[in-house]
Amino acid sequence: MTTYADPVPGGRAGDGDRAQALAEDLAANGVHGVVLSWVDTCGVNRVKTVPVARLASAARWGVGMSPVFDLFLADDSIVTGDLQGGPDGDLRLVPDLDHVVPLAGQPGWAWAPVDRMRQDGTMHPGCSRTILRRLVGAAREQGIELKASIEIEFALGRGDVPYPAFEPACVGSSYGMTRLVEQTDFCADALEALAAEGVDVDQIHPEYAAGQYEVSVGALDPVGAADRSVLVRQTLRAVAQRHGLRISFSPSVLEAGVGNGGHLHLSAWRDGANLHSTGDGRYAMTAEGEAFAAGVLDALPALAAVTTPSPASYLRLQPSHWAGVYACWGHETRESALRIVTGMVGNTGRAANIEVKCADLAANPYLLVGGAVAAGLDGVARGLTLPDEISGDPAGLDPVQAEKAGVRRLPTSLAEAVEAFAASPLPAAAFGDLVVDAVLAVRRGEAARVAGLDAAAVAEAYRWVY
Ligand code: GLU
Ligand code: MG
Repeated sequence: MTTYADPVPGGRAGDGDRAQALAEDLAANGVHGVVLSWVDTCGVNRVKTVPVARLASAARWGVGMSPVFDLFLADDSIVTGDLQGGPDGDLRLVPDLDHVVPLAGQPGWAWAPVDRMRQDGTMHPGCSRTILRRLVGAAREQGIELKASIEIEFALGRGDVPYPAFEPACVGSSYGMTRLVEQTDFCADALEALAAEGVDVDQIHPEYAAGQYEVSVGALDPVGAADRSVLVRQTLRAVAQRHGLRISFSPSVLEAGVGNGGHLHLSAWRDGANLHSTGDGRYAMTAEGEAFAAGVLDALPALAAVTTPSPASYLRLQPSHWAGVYACWGHETRESALRIVTGMVGNTGRAANIEVKCADLAANPYLLVGGAVAAGLDGVARGLTLPDEISGDPAGLDPVQAEKAGVRRLPTSLAEAVEAFAASPLPAAAFGDLVVDAVLAVRRGEAARVAGLDAAAVAEAYRWVY
């Protein structure tokens, strides 16, 4: 469980002793180093590491890191924002002791997500994990608890082909037993590693696209869910490497066909009751649950720069590719950006949630979840209701029907997503001006980087980044 309290300089009462005991325990179990993990604006998981003996010091005083990482592009070039950039300044990476996990795919290492603090002891306003913690805190103040989970789709490529080519590591049918047999050791070892890390896996299965598989995991509190998304991907990567495989979470590993999604499941609860299953509205939604869903739906175009942040995201976002490219909602409709999941009769209280289908794994998971939480709370504050639901594939609607049904196509390019993001007041309210500035600078930088490249070159440029 996430503590949801900010770190303080020198550590909170007991942190030093706790970290010391934890470090001794880790060392006794063969851990030599601790990975301090955060995710940058462009969705890359960046790290610093410390020997296990330094964990207590890191928990009390953090480890230094430049704020310029907020302006990194996916190719490690650096842009400048209106409010930030350049070589000045230092931040402290403070590991969250509640989430230290020995890495089962990387013996000798443990992992800890960090919050980023300034040297004056205040939190860095660009720290996406802190921002998510604050948004969840705002929900709690209104009596709303949230649960989240991010699905993880990935492609397995053969490790023995020259970089950056992709050769799928299986040839069996989509969802086929053959494909499971082909990667039976990888899949079994992935399950073993994730279980050892305390990750409750819901499913692992072969997916649709070339070399594609999926892991879905149990829901947690929002910060825990975002942490878990990072941990699971790096664990799968490490297991894949041990099997001579290369793994890609890129939205579009190949320029055509179905891509890798990172669907976000989110549910809001009040007094222990699921607001998506205990009302008398459509599909048993409560008025508040519907307002929450309506707020998320309303904000999806503006949040595209966060949910689908890479130039490769827009190769994936094609109609009739199960990626949910239309801002509309439906009950169990896989072509709407917002899918209302009710679950099986008898289990709806546990299972009902909303699924943001358009999201992918290039997204910084803290901003992805935070944006959806902020949008949902905004919907509750405004008492929004959902428009008519959609069934079937909205791609079949002609423009007049689509307009009548209120179906909008989500941004079709990163440049369009940036415009929608900049035009909406929601991002600044949710994330603050510094993150908005970083997102705008980084997305514009990525868009400029790929200007003139064809789809194959874009897919190749981002293939092994995520
Ligand atoms: N791979 C699809 C995507 O790009 C999703 C497939 C599914 O619904 O599982 O989001
Ligand atoms: Mg899937």
